[in-house]
Parts: sequence; C-alpha cells; structure tokens
Amino acid sequence: MKTTIYASSEFLKHDTGHNHPESAARLETLLSLFEEKLTSVPQKEPQAAEIEDIALTHPESYIYELMDLLPDTGYAAIDTAGECILSPSSWESLLLSAGAGISALNDIMSGETTRAFCAIRPPGHHAEAQKPMGFCFFNNAFITARIAQERHNIKHIAIIDFDVHHGNGTDALTRAHNDTHPNEPLFYASTHQAPLWPMTGDPTNNTDHIINATLPEGSDGKVLMNAYEEHIFPALNAYAPDLLILSAGFDAHKDDPLAGLSLEAEDFGTLTTALCAIADKHANRRMISLLEGGYNIQALKSSVEAHLHALSTT
Ligand SMILES: [Zn+2]
Repeated sequence: MKTTIYASSEFLKHDTGHNHPESAARLETLLSLFEEKLTSVPQKEPQAAEIEDIALTHPESYIYELMDLLPDTGYAAIDTAGECILSPSSWESLLLSAGAGISALNDIMSGETTRAFCAIRPPGHHAEAQKPMGFCFFNNAFITARIAQERHNIKHIAIIDFDVHHGNGTDALTRAHNDTHPNEPLFYASTHQAPLWPMTGDPTNNTDHIINATLPEGSDGKVLMNAYEEHIFPALNAYAPDLLILSAGFDAHKDDPLAGLSLEAEDFGTLTTALCAIADKHANRRMISLLEGGYNIQALKSSVEAHLHALSTT
C-alpha cells in the first residue's frame, strides 16, 4: 500500500487578492507541512487537465467563457456574489487543480500508488456544469469520477464530501448524470452544517445514490461519525464502490472562520480511517482525496496532517 501527495507551488499563482479566505497561504502552509513532517510520503507534481478532460463535466462553451474572463492585470470577480476571483495566472492553477485527480487516477491504475492526497486550489465542489460558485470554477472531484468511468472503465465511483458546506455542484452533476446514465449511477454523499450557505443538501431529497446528512451548529466529531454510520455507510456499502473520491474540506474544524461546527483535527483522522476501511473492503484500497475548503491556516495544517497520517498508515 502506498500513498502519494500531489502538490505544486504553481497553485500559489492563483491570486485571489487581499483578505480572501481561499488564499495562496492555505497551500503554502500545506507545502511546508509536507516538507517538515511528512517526508516519508512521496510527493509528485500533478499534470494539467486537458480541455477534453474537463469537457466530460463542463460544456466547452463554459470552459472557454472562463478563459475569456481572465484579466490581463489585477483581479476579476466573475460570479454575482463576488467570491470567485480570477487573476492573470489563475488559468494554470485551474487546469492543475482539475488535473491532479486525473494524475492520481492514472498512477493508481498503473499500480504506481494506491491512495492519493491532492493539495489543490481552487476547490471544486460548488462548481456546477455552467456556473462558478463559492471559490470554485471546475468541479475537480466530478471531473476525476467521469474520467475514471470513461477512460478506465471503472463504473462504481463514490464521492464522499466532508467539507462543512454542501457540495451543491457535485450533487447537481451527480443527479444529472444518474438521470441520463441509469445503468451507471455515481454515488454522492455529503455531511454538512445546516442551516448554512449554500442552503442546499436537504436530506428529504435523498435517493439511493445521493445521501445528504445535515449537522446542527456546534456538532463535534462524535455527531459527525454518527451521521456517517447511520446514514452514509449503509448506502455506501450497498453501492460497493470500485473507487472512492473524497471531497476533503477541513472547514468543519472548530476554529474555521466560515462555519460553526466543533471538530478537532484528530476527528478528520478518525473519519479517514473509517473511509479507508470501506475502500479496503470494496475498492481494492483505491482512494483519491481532493482538497476542498479549510480556511483557518493552522487548523487546516493540523487537520490535513491527521488526514494524511490516517491515509498513509491505515
Ligand atoms: Zn467549505
């Protein structure tokens, strides 16, 4: 069993401006964590996604529209909320962020590694087919899942999203895919604080393959694990995934400025260990973890350390 980190200093070039929570400092702290404490875990540079890779998830018109919105200088807010900021060097980060999961997948399928953590930005789980949202432009997790289906003939893929916010983009993309491909449904499960932006992910809309579980403000690691054991793991085991993709957001940490849950760093390790057991049981241990949120720099660092420790030793 081998775990590989996919990371690049190129992600620092996606400049979101002064005081933006999704800042280059997030990646900077993770790069220093890998250098200081995780030297035993091998690290690789990811490859940029090709347009045709992304086009399995987002229409080409949307991809080129984003490209056209890149500013020559300064910053461009490209969504109505003013949260999705592009700067002149953002495009490479967007393609690398979309490509990291594909790089990990290629290496897993060739037997070079078993598990992967992709330290990427911008995140992806709020991006819908034709809509940037919540710091996200391309849906990195869904892009990886569709490449696995189309290029590697892996049909049962589960995306598990433990970011504190509901992954509205991944949820919508999965529902649309499952409507048009009823014989090859993807699985999406999310735990998220409710009520909280983006106010989607109501469990009353759950299906066999879309499982949303909500957590009230103040929930700790025990409440989180109960939600997984009660609502998500039974459906996930019934689906029997051949590959697990994690939308790994760390903003459910108690110190995160954007939300109100009460997790400690170690709780991310506990959840990761439980997810590894499911990957071991069904998916030949294959797991690709993609960074989503996490906006307190110190909390992000300690939470990713706990996550990677579990990923590389379980
Ligand atoms: Zn989040």
